[in-house]
Amino acid sequence: MSETSGARFAQVAIERVPDRLFTYAVPAGMALRVGMRVTVPWRQILRQGYVMALTDACPALPAPARGGDAGPDLFGAPPPPRVKAVAEAPDPVPYFSEATLRLLRWMAAYYDVGLTLALRCALPAPVREGGSRARERFVVAPILPPPPHLPPLSKRQKALYEEIVRVDGGLLAPLCKELSTTPATLRRLAALGYVSVTLKEAPRSPLAGRRILPTRPLPLTEAQAAALAVILGERRPTLLFGVTGSGKTEVYMQAIAQTLAEGRGAIVLVPEIALTPQTVNRFAARFGEAVAVLHSALGDGERHDEWHRIRRGAARVVVGPRSAVFAPVSPLGLIIVDEEHDTGYKQDESPRYSARDVAVMRAHLEGARCVLGSATPSLESWRNAAELGKYALARLPGRVGGATLPDVALVDLREAARPGQGLPIFSEPLVDALKTCLGRGEQAILFLNRRGYAPTYQCGACGEPIACAHCSAKLTYHAKDDTLRCHLCGAWRRPPDRCPRCGAPLFKPLGVGTQRVEAALGAILPRARVIRMDADSTGRRHSHDELLAAFRAKEADILLGTQMIAKGLDFPNVTLVGILAADRSLNIPYDFRAPERTFQLIAQVSGRAGRGELPGRVIVQTLQPEHPVIRAACACAYERFAAEELAERRAAGLPPYAKLACVTLAGPDPEAVRRAAEAAARRFAACRGLEALPALPAPLERKEDQWRWQILLKAPSAQAIVAACDHILPRDKRLAPGLRVLVDVDALFLA
Ligand code: ADP
Ligand code: ZN
Repeated sequence: MSETSGARFAQVAIERVPDRLFTYAVPAGMALRVGMRVTVPWRQILRQGYVMALTDACPALPAPARGGDAGPDLFGAPPPPRVKAVAEAPDPVPYFSEATLRLLRWMAAYYDVGLTLALRCALPAPVREGGSRARERFVVAPILPPPPHLPPLSKRQKALYEEIVRVDGGLLAPLCKELSTTPATLRRLAALGYVSVTLKEAPRSPLAGRRILPTRPLPLTEAQAAALAVILGERRPTLLFGVTGSGKTEVYMQAIAQTLAEGRGAIVLVPEIALTPQTVNRFAARFGEAVAVLHSALGDGERHDEWHRIRRGAARVVVGPRSAVFAPVSPLGLIIVDEEHDTGYKQDESPRYSARDVAVMRAHLEGARCVLGSATPSLESWRNAAELGKYALARLPGRVGGATLPDVALVDLREAARPGQGLPIFSEPLVDALKTCLGRGEQAILFLNRRGYAPTYQCGACGEPIACAHCSAKLTYHAKDDTLRCHLCGAWRRPPDRCPRCGAPLFKPLGVGTQRVEAALGAILPRARVIRMDADSTGRRHSHDELLAAFRAKEADILLGTQMIAKGLDFPNVTLVGILAADRSLNIPYDFRAPERTFQLIAQVSGRAGRGELPGRVIVQTLQPEHPVIRAACACAYERFAAEELAERRAAGLPPYAKLACVTLAGPDPEAVRRAAEAAARRFAACRGLEALPALPAPLERKEDQWRWQILLKAPSAQAIVAACDHILPRDKRLAPGLRVLVDVDALFLA
C-alpha cells in the first residue's frame, strides 16, 4: 500500500453514504494523498468524499464502486473491473492527517458508529461544504492629516473622526460596534474625505478588531512549577487537580509556550459556556496571532477561515469546545482539557463521543502531552490517576497569592419555613448577607438549577399537573409571557382556565424557577439591579457575552442563573454566592451520578466567590444539611468525597469499575417499542461477557411523541458492548420500520 500519489486506486468514504468504502481509479497525473477531499461519481451524481487509502491493486471484489463495475463473474475469472475514476481533487492538501484518520477509526469502533459519521463530525460544517474562500472586507482608515478645504463636520461627526484617529481605524463591522456607530455614518465620513473605506482580503477571524494587551509569563509558584514539570516530563496524561483560582490557566499557558518552542502546536478544550471573550482573551494576550478560536457561535465564514488557518499552520494554538479536539493541528504537541469533568464534553447526538476521552486517545496516537484540569475531577479521571496510575497526578492545593477559599455556611431551609407558607425562596441569613454585600458596593451571584417561573402548574383543587402533549414531562410556567412550556421539546400553550380533570378554575404555579426568584428579589431588594442568565435569557448569539460583560462592568448587583453561571467565570468584585436549593440535583432516583454532579455543582458555584482581593462568602440553602455529599461539597473536601463515592460505585459494579452503555429504543407505538425492547434485552442477556439489565421504560418515557424504552449494558470493556450490539442490532440500527435504536457508550445521562 502506498500513501502518496502514483497509486492506481483510491478507497473513498462518501459523505452521507454510511459504512462502506468505494473503490475508484486514480486518473493519471492526479496527485492524490490519503485524507484528501475528492469528488466522485456515485450513482448518477457527483458527490464529495475523502480518500481513506490508496492501493496499486484493485482491492478484491466484492468491494467495487457501486455503479461502476459489472460485479463478479460467476463462471470464470472475474473480469477486469471497470471502476469509475475520481472526478476531482479540489484541494492540494489532505483534510485529514493519517493520525486523525486513525483516531476516527478508533472512535467509530469505540462508539459503534459508521466511519463516515465520524469523519463528518470531525469537520466543521462550513469546511465540509467547501467553497467560501477568505472574503474581502471593508477596512476603515483615517486620512491624516485631513486634506485642506474639506467640508466641515458636525459636532458628532467630529467626535467620531477623532475616535477613529485614536484607534487607528479597523475593520468596518467591528469598528462600528466598538464606536457605537453605523456603517452608513462611517461612509458619510468617507464621502466627505476624512476617512478611507477600502476592500481588502482579510481572513475572518473572531479576534479581529479586538485590542488585547499582551501578557508575559508570570513567575510560577512552587506548586505551579512542580505541576508544570510533571506535565512536561510525563508520557502519561496529567490530571491537574486544583481549586478554582489556583493558577491552572497560567500552568496551561506555560506548557503551551514550551510546546510551541518545540515546534509543535496545542489544543485547549474548554466547556462551551466558558468560551467567553474573557477566556479567549487570556490565551490571545499570551500567544497573539497564533491563537485560533473554534466556536459554534461563530459565523460560517469565521469557522471556515479559522479551520484553514490552523491547517496551514498559521495558527498553532486552538481554543474551542469539544469539536476542537479534531482541529487539524500538526504536529500536535499538547492537548489541554479544562474543566475535564464537564458533561458538555459528551456529545448528545451520534456519535456520542466524549471529547475528553478522544483527547486522551489523540494525544496517545500522536505522541502529544495531555492535561486534564479540574477542581472537581470526574471519578473516571480521578480513579485513573489516584488508583490506577494511568494518569500522573499534579496538585495545586491553594489559591494563588494566598486568596482564601470562601467561607461556606449551610442553611437548613426546613427551619426557615414559616408556618402555613411553605418553604421560602430566601432564608433570613441569605437576605441579610445580600443586603450587607450590596451595601458595601460588592456583587453577588445566586444560583438555582431551574429556569422558568415555576416548574409545575397544577390544579388547586385536585392537584392535577399540566403535562406536555408530546412528552412525559410536566410543563413549566413562564410568567413573563404567561405560557406553559415544555423544556424537552419546546412546545408551549396558554395556561388553561379550568382543570381538564375536575373542572375547577383554580390553577397555581408550584415550585420555584429563576424567573420567580427574580420577581421575589424585586420584592425584598427593590433597588438591586439583577441580571438573569438562563436558556430563556440568552437566546441571541452574543447575549451571553453581553450579559456577563455588563455584570463585570458592575452594571448589575446580582447575577442570577442556572448552571450556565457555574463555570469558569472570574469576577473579582463578587463576594457572595447563594445556592438556593442545593438538593435539587441530588435526588434523581435513576441517576447514579447525581451525587457526583451535586458535589461538582456546589464546589464550582462556591468557587465563584472571593476570587479577587475581597474575601468570599457562600450560603448554601438545603433541605438535607446532614447529607454527606452536601457536607463534603461545602467543605471543599473533594478527595474524601471521591473515596466514599468510588467505594459505593465499586460495590455496585458501576462506572468507573465497569463500562456502561445505554441502548434506547424509540418509536411511535408504545406496544411495539416495549416488545422490541424486551426481545432485544433477552438476546443481550444471553451474550457472554456482558450483563444486560431488563428492559425498562426510559425515565422520560415519552419524548416528542416517541415512546422510549431502555436497556442498560455493563461489561468490563467497551469492545464487549459494541460486539454484542453489532451481533444483536441490525447494522443500520433499525429493528423495524419506525423503530429507532440509539447506542450510547459511556452514557452520562440516563434520560
Ligand atoms: P484557575 O485557572 O485555576 O482558575 P487562574 O490561572 O485563573 O486559576 O489564576 C487565578 C488568578 O491568579 C489569575 O488572576 C492569575 O492571573 C493569577 N495567577 C496565576 N498564577 C500566578 C502567579 N504565578 N503569580 C501571580 N499571579 C498568578
Ligand atoms: Zn414536550
